[in-house]
Amino acid sequence: MLASNVFLKILTGEIPARLVHDDERCVAFHDANPQAPVHVLVIPRRVIRTHADLTPEDAALVGHLHVVAAKLARELGLEAGYRLVVNCDDAGGQTVPHLHLHLLGGRPLGWPPG
Ligand code: AMP
Repeated sequence: MLASNVFLKILTGEIPARLVHDDERCVAFHDANPQAPVHVLVIPRRVIRTHADLTPEDAALVGHLHVVAAKLARELGLEAGYRLVVNCDDAGGQTVPHLHLHLLGGRPLGWPPG
């Protein structure tokens, strides 16, 4: 079952985060429980519960999240490559009900994932 939306508290400043990007549509910050030397989350400011809730109106926003992730990958030294992950709902391993991209890198990443 998805937990409460801790990312909203980061957006409102109620709880701290190590921000690496902040603009009018999204923010990005280091994951509190990193799974790789670089593990950053890119989240929209607007709450979209999960990937399955996306509509055609969200296309530009989702594109923006990806452009920001690519910029952060360059800034964080991931020239050798990286992985973007979106966990969707309970069976997909999502725990926070606020759409987010995981940007992972800095070590070899195996495939398939668990
Ligand atoms: P997911 O399981 O795809 O929903 O990913 C949620 C991610 O949020 C996990 O990788 C958590 O480690 C991360 N996370 C949860 N709470 C915080 C927090 N307060 N600050 C930063 N990352 C968090």
